[in-house]
Amino acid sequence: MPDADAGAVPAGCLFCRIAAGDLPARVVLRTPRVLAFEDVNPQAPLHVLVVPVRHVESAAAISEGDGELLEEMLIAAREVAEASGKGGGGYRLVMNVGDDAGNTVPHLHLHVVGGRRLGWPPG
Ligand code: AMP
Ligand code: ZN
Repeated sequence: MPDADAGAVPAGCLFCRIAAGDLPARVVLRTPRVLAFEDVNPQAPLHVLVVPVRHVESAAAISEGDGELLEEMLIAAREVAEASGKGGGGYRLVMNVGDDAGNTVPHLHLHVVGGRRLGWPPG
């Protein structure tokens, strides 16, 4: 299983620590490979982060063989949105990559944002 090889994990990676249960989070969904928890600074009534349990730096670090992981993250996002009861009017899935996109946590995460009308384009 490729997921068994976590590779080099930055010491103290915030989302690795949450995935390991070392830091508290409001977890809404967990599978062996994916975790979803509420964003600590929500930007909308629904704001959940879906992360891989193993460390992946960002969407820019995705490579061949990661397809099943991405599939699982997208299915988790849909399930979280549906279970929240706040995604009926639509929701947005976002992966920020790099400074200009506002990426602050260097562990891959999919924002699931909804529950209100969302503006476009992003500011
Ligand atoms: P990004 O700016 O795309 O890297 O997103 C990082 C997100 O992680 C932000 O929306 C933060 O509010 C969120 N965040 C940071 N620390 C925590 C934490 N301990 N628990 C939950 N969400 C967090
Ligand atoms: Zn990590």
